Amino acid sequence: MQILKGLKPEKVFEYFEAISAIPRGSGNTEKIRGYCADFAMQRNLKYICDDFGNIIIFKDSVKNESTEPVIIQGHLDMVWEKNDECNINFETDGLELCVDGDFVSAKGTTLGGDDGIAVAMGLALLDSDDISHPPLEIVFTSDEEVGMTGANGIDCSVLNGKRMINLDSEAEGTLWVSCAGGVRADVALSVEYVENTKPAYEIIVSGLHGGHSGAEIHNGYRNANKVIGELLGKLSEIISFNIVDIGGGTADNAITRYSRCVIAANENVENIIKLISDEIKVSIKDTDPDTEITIHKIESDLNCMSDNSTKSVVSLLNDLPSGVIAMSKEIEGLVETSLNLGIMKRSEGCFHCSFSVRSGVDSEREKLTARLKNTADNHSASIMFYSAYPAWEFKKDSVLRDLMADVYKDIYGKEMTVTAIHAGLECGLFCGKIKGLDCVSFGPDIFDIHTPCEKLSISSTRRTWNYLLKVLEKL
Ligand SMILES: [Zn+2]
Repeated sequence: MQILKGLKPEKVFEYFEAISAIPRGSGNTEKIRGYCADFAMQRNLKYICDDFGNIIIFKDSVKNESTEPVIIQGHLDMVWEKNDECNINFETDGLELCVDGDFVSAKGTTLGGDDGIAVAMGLALLDSDDISHPPLEIVFTSDEEVGMTGANGIDCSVLNGKRMINLDSEAEGTLWVSCAGGVRADVALSVEYVENTKPAYEIIVSGLHGGHSGAEIHNGYRNANKVIGELLGKLSEIISFNIVDIGGGTADNAITRYSRCVIAANENVENIIKLISDEIKVSIKDTDPDTEITIHKIESDLNCMSDNSTKSVVSLLNDLPSGVIAMSKEIEGLVETSLNLGIMKRSEGCFHCSFSVRSGVDSEREKLTARLKNTADNHSASIMFYSAYPAWEFKKDSVLRDLMADVYKDIYGKEMTVTAIHAGLECGLFCGKIKGLDCVSFGPDIFDIHTPCEKLSISSTRRTWNYLLKVLEKL
């Protein structure tokens, strides 16, 4: 069934619906790449698929004198997040789209408007023969959401464009010209398991707001993993217990909404935990008013962590920072440095915490990673850093930026907001690979990305598309 039929711009929504039927979570982008390759083949467009999961599709200019190509870029993968009651199998099932007023969303799951809208717009451009544009180099990268591995590996020598429009931003009327760099960090603490003879209790922290750890970290939304840490820390001052199981979060760049822990204790802990929970809920009610903390007795035949290991985990979890570390000194309201404890889990013999660390200033990022390493060292835990990507630095002179701002003013009758973002964009990696690259990022309004509430504005998509076409006409 075509849910989006009739929505304008028609081609954009037609392709958006088509790709929404294709499972394309990070690490699972073969099918969507195959779809794009077939698309190019059917239209006799030259394309390149590389070993990093990227695809580049080339198209000659149409109704446009310009011989200088423009790169249009977005990412193929999306974040898979779903509501607890949603039964989707992300690896095999398409999304269930729905339209409500001005918004497109997906039932119970993330929509993947981030960054499916870029793929849909790219395909709509490639499919057109009546849109004026310079030669196009459409670049769809893979696995942006898990360390930008596609953009990191891509060979840009096959590209001739020195101007790039990235369509991975989510607020109409804003042009991004600089972004934070980042790195992933994994902390691992060895733990010892012993046989458990005590009753087990399951504690669940849920209902937190969550959100993108770059774009929404300034809102101060609480991280469920840290909430569990706080709760266990307070509990350990009152009674002794052992951790049986602990875990929360599915992506290190999503602020954790749900976290779970099983503890073993001789005393009846339900009332004590209820008191601690009430205290915590009050302290976070401004940012996360719908937080729920439940506890109940369960049957568990798992071993539990030893007394020492339990203490180590609780103390490490409380000492590890998460959230905003510093605000920008130049741009008001912009977060300069932050980190997010997106995933914690236990494995055989280990307790793991995974972070997404970000900063607009590379030296500040290094200071924070040094602090993390220090904390890990103090707890005799190991730490690994990987998938580092550079900050995208502000370019003093940008012809593209000026033109984009002028066209915006022509169409909208007001100034475009030109700004920087705390989230990472692939632009930084491309700027590192293409000398003198002139680059901007923008996109239509998408709300609550990386959460099951994600929704894409239809009217904003229409206006943004028309704006993009005007820009391409002038390039
Ligand atoms: Zn994105």
